[in-house]
Amino acid sequence: MVVENRGQQQSVRYVVDTDRCCGCRRCIRRCQENVWQWDEEHHHAYPKYPDECVLCYQCEMDCLNNVIDIQAIATLQVDPLEYSAELMKKKEAEQ
Ligand code: SF4
Ligand code: SF4
Repeated sequence: MVVENRGQQQSVRYVVDTDRCCGCRRCIRRCQENVWQWDEEHHHAYPKYPDECVLCYQCEMDCLNNVIDIQAIATLQVDPLEYSAELMKKKEAEQ
């Protein structure tokens, strides 16, 4: 399973070999951001809320079967708050 998320601050791709997921659920317990959920139907963990990921790599390091591969596909060097402030300044200047 490949889950890709292109967010405002960072973009991440999860490659999860779900066939080898043993169901230990360590990823779910370890992730402080509650990204991971258990798929009852297909019996494997998967990153349901990738938007919340902070790229700490804890789930990848803790996975018992080493089936999680997290790839940061892009990291923007822009602070979203500074970016919004710049936009507001520009709009104000235009008015
Ligand atoms: S890298 Fe960190 S925040 Fe992202 S899913 Fe894994 S444990 Fe959660
Ligand atoms: S830690 Fe790895 S093996 Fe365990 S449930 Fe999560 S993906 Fe599956």
